[in-house]
Amino acid sequence: MRSVVHDYLTEVLGGLAADGSGELAGYIPELAEADPDRLGAVFATVDGEVYGAGDADVEFTIQSISKPFAYALALSDRGFDSVLAKVGVEPSGEAFNEISLEHETGRPRNPMINAGAITTHSLVGPEHLLPAERVDRVVRGLSAFAGRRLEVDETVCISEMENAHRNLASAHMLRSHNILTADPRSVVEGYIRQCSVLVTARDLAVMAATLANQGVNPVTGERVVDARVVRQVLSVMSTCGMYDAAGDWATQVGIPAKSGVAGGLIGSLPGQLGIATFSPRLDGHGNSVRGVSLFERFSSDMGLHVMEVPPAALAVVRSSHVLGEGTSAVRVLQAQGGIRFAGAERIVREFVGDDIGESAVVVDFSLVSSIDDVARRMLLELARRLMLEGRGVYFVDPEMVIPDPDRGDGIRVPVIADAGQAPRGVGA
Ligand code: GLN
Repeated sequence: MRSVVHDYLTEVLGGLAADGSGELAGYIPELAEADPDRLGAVFATVDGEVYGAGDADVEFTIQSISKPFAYALALSDRGFDSVLAKVGVEPSGEAFNEISLEHETGRPRNPMINAGAITTHSLVGPEHLLPAERVDRVVRGLSAFAGRRLEVDETVCISEMENAHRNLASAHMLRSHNILTADPRSVVEGYIRQCSVLVTARDLAVMAATLANQGVNPVTGERVVDARVVRQVLSVMSTCGMYDAAGDWATQVGIPAKSGVAGGLIGSLPGQLGIATFSPRLDGHGNSVRGVSLFERFSSDMGLHVMEVPPAALAVVRSSHVLGEGTSAVRVLQAQGGIRFAGAERIVREFVGDDIGESAVVVDFSLVSSIDDVARRMLLELARRLMLEGRGVYFVDPEMVIPDPDRGDGIRVPVIADAGQAPRGVGA
């Protein structure tokens, strides 16, 4: 049987095939030679399933889609403070090639506009690297996100370098403010090589899925960057990824995204999937026309807007019942799903107020898929308080969602195989 996901993608692409609006990126002569009719889309799930349709395996240059990934590498290699000292995180509301620098500091406003991305390139790898070594570190890093060794398209690279007046002007401005400390020309060359890395929509979807999967490539299993870096990158993508169309995008599509002038577009939906589309004709913002339409469809058809989330808290308590009677009664609370702050609060609330009558409490985590740090601490504190009241507290936790149920004072909450095994009776 073919997957419904694959057929859905094919059908949506078919519906957009006739849309010939928009223009190829003319300012890079080699990109103006591209086949404008190419159209592809790929979904990559956070557990490594990849669905492609249309021109999913056609190579094109990554262009600005390299920016969030280079930013991730710079944050990993240099740390947050050094990167933030040189590149801000405020949306500029301007076009991608606007030379928008902060008045006093000369810092580019964010890493998604060219001035910020040129600076970010210079921050990848250790400080002393030679320009070619820095490019190598960037290409290797992008390759780790994609899960295969990527190459540079030399023709596109030369074509862009020959016409890089605006990026060179930005780099000289940045040098004059000491934001760039290296030779501006060699940094722009490195940045343009970064933009000239060849990818397919399939590669881009896996790269986006690596961000959706907290920095672990779901196909190769490699941890590329840590989760803290991913949070920073996705935040900046959601506010600045679509340049001066960022507000429209955030409200209508609601998926952290990044576009490139060769026609690529990625979206990364945390915890769910990476999406990539390829269609070279661009709108006035420099975003792919059919790429934007595809994302609008995907978001509304599949409810992918990041602000639309199910009410996890209500469903966390699957049941709360009493086993046995009188002094040997045991309160059993069965939790389910993923538990975060709101879910833990819901569980804690079951025990607040009037004292419960039972002398023992079992919290059953068998149907719980994950518990985050704050929820784990709240539930262990709940256990500590119930134990202080003289009650027996037991966890049922076959999947070890709380691997070390230490209440924080060296005392562990006992783990039992099922609720029926809880010792009964006062002071149990
Ligand atoms: N390399 C291109 C540039 O610097 C990238 C722009 C883009 O994809 N938006 O102009």
